[in-house]
Amino acid sequence: MAYFSLAGVQIGPPITVTATAYCACEYCCNKSDGITKSGTRAMPGHTLAVDPNIIPLGTKVYIEGLGIYTAEDTGSAIKGNRIDIFMEHHEQAINFGSQNLKIYILGEDTTPRI
Ligand SMILES: [Zn+2]
Repeated sequence: MAYFSLAGVQIGPPITVTATAYCACEYCCNKSDGITKSGTRAMPGHTLAVDPNIIPLGTKVYIEGLGIYTAEDTGSAIKGNRIDIFMEHHEQAINFGSQNLKIYILGEDTTPRI
């Protein structure tokens, strides 16, 4: 059930998550091809890694202060209320650190599976 609807987009209730960031490097991903779990090429400002048990892959997510991302990737440390935001440069990911942010699930099914 949507929390509210804005310009025809269903928006879920705010979920507080711990957000970190990563890039396509060997250190962040144990591989460096930049291909997500969904088979897409990871893109800054777009790609988000999530726990697919909580946010299904393909879901659009609004991240407070950052914009709309698509859940396309997963990570061994990304479990529960954790998200990992893709960034172009490793330095940006390191500088982002770990932040508590609010996210909102967008679309048809906005119910978080928590
Ligand atoms: Zn990296």
